[in-house]
Amino acid sequence: MNVPFLDLKAINQACREQLIQAMTDVLDSGWYIQGQKLNEFEKKFAEYCGTEFCLGVANGLDALTLTLRAWKTMGKLKSGDEVIVPANTYIASILAITENDLVPVLVEPNADTFNLCPENVRRAITPRTRVLLPVHLYGQLADMENLMEISSDHNLLVLEDSAQSHGAQIDGRKSGSWGDASGFSFYPGKNLGALGDAGAITTSDPELYEVLKALRNYGSHEKYKNIFQGVNSRLDEIQAAILSVKLGFLDEQTKHRQKIASAYLDNIKNNAITLPVVVSPEQHVWHLFVIRSSRRQELQRFLMDNGIQTLIHYPIPPHQQQAYPGLNNLELPVTERIHNEVLSLPMGPSLSVEEAAYVAQVCNRFMSKD
Ligand SMILES: *Cc1c(COP(=O)(O)O)cnc(C)c1O
Repeated sequence: MNVPFLDLKAINQACREQLIQAMTDVLDSGWYIQGQKLNEFEKKFAEYCGTEFCLGVANGLDALTLTLRAWKTMGKLKSGDEVIVPANTYIASILAITENDLVPVLVEPNADTFNLCPENVRRAITPRTRVLLPVHLYGQLADMENLMEISSDHNLLVLEDSAQSHGAQIDGRKSGSWGDASGFSFYPGKNLGALGDAGAITTSDPELYEVLKALRNYGSHEKYKNIFQGVNSRLDEIQAAILSVKLGFLDEQTKHRQKIASAYLDNIKNNAITLPVVVSPEQHVWHLFVIRSSRRQELQRFLMDNGIQTLIHYPIPPHQQQAYPGLNNLELPVTERIHNEVLSLPMGPSLSVEEAAYVAQVCNRFMSKD
């Protein structure tokens, strides 16, 4: 049996007719940027997340970068302020900080959940800390109850990185509605994915919303009148129309991901493999199913030899990247071990339960002595 890591084509084929209709509507409307399709999607996605506002932008990195930039524009942040971020995140979270001339303070995650550890966050706070940037990594919400308490104790802004956690919730409160603002990515492989690059910011702060609305469009609310030095980071009508269609399938697809995850969790039994820890089932939308093994390379090869494609998220932690020489001498043993051991199994709405059972079976045969 061949099991691909993620079959994007199959996922999009499942709503082919509706996507063709949505794209045709945009083609025939004669209006391609900042129009009705964007307004519709922003309204639907804000409602989905439980926030007052949503702003479409060009991609997930811009969603994070522009939010920090807006806070600088509003006088809430200044160059050199510190932003606390998990050390094991994807590079985009760090780039958004340094792009704004802010200082990333890398904090070791909880080794079980891969998410920000509240005790480590408290220890990392200095008089210059202004922002917490929790990343809901692999689809599981960070410990937002405790992190929000820390933020109110220390008067910090909270920017959630929700690029991997569309629809994840704690007690009905969704990813993107906990912090002062949140950045989402709709990169094709994300749980809600466009057919190209796309992103969004959610917030319930009307002032932030107004600033961001201008910043993403040349710093302009009114054509040819520029109140800020903005950028061009807009969400195309065609992608907004596609996302509105796909949002209608998201909850169903999340349930499927949860079913696949249960199949893995119930059936993989091998002491060379550490399974992911689930804090509560609703909290996890399984963007990725990430196991750990001290024999990762052999395990990946064994799975590959049996037709199973796996990936590593991520092989090199941000502090060891060539792009950040200033961070290279940090010692972050928990993060480093995570990066040496993690392996992502096939996961997605097009993966069948039979395929998941096969993956579990092969995992269980790894290293057996027969
Ligand atoms: C994908 C991702 C981003 C960036 O999104 P893009 O749309 O690719 O710019 C940011 N943070 C995390 C955690 C991501 O996984």
